[in-house]
Amino acid sequence: MQTKKKAVPRRIVRTRDHRPNLKGGGKSRHHTGHGERHTSLFAAGEIVKETGIYEVVHDHQHRTAHEVVMLSGDSFPPCETCEGRVRFRLIRTAPYIFQDEDFEETE
Ligand SMILES: [Zn+2]
Repeated sequence: MQTKKKAVPRRIVRTRDHRPNLKGGGKSRHHTGHGERHTSLFAAGEIVKETGIYEVVHDHQHRTAHEVVMLSGDSFPPCETCEGRVRFRLIRTAPYIFQDEDFEETE
């Protein structure tokens, strides 16, 4: 009696799993809004990128939305009541008069 060791054919199990592997995690597609008319919301503490008129939307509507002018370079301030939960929505960009080259203040 001899026991022969059979070479077990290896079965390659192919998993039909074609998942796109997300390397690095998270794509960094930063689109700079070039004429795009999508509504963008900003939170308190964020830096204003574009000077313009923004709608201030308060948390729990303790106050109705109102419009303000924000200057680029400033940061959106927190509300005294709803603090960091306030949101700012860009209504339209408009250059601040003293950022215009013809009206710039010279020191
Ligand atoms: Zn508020």
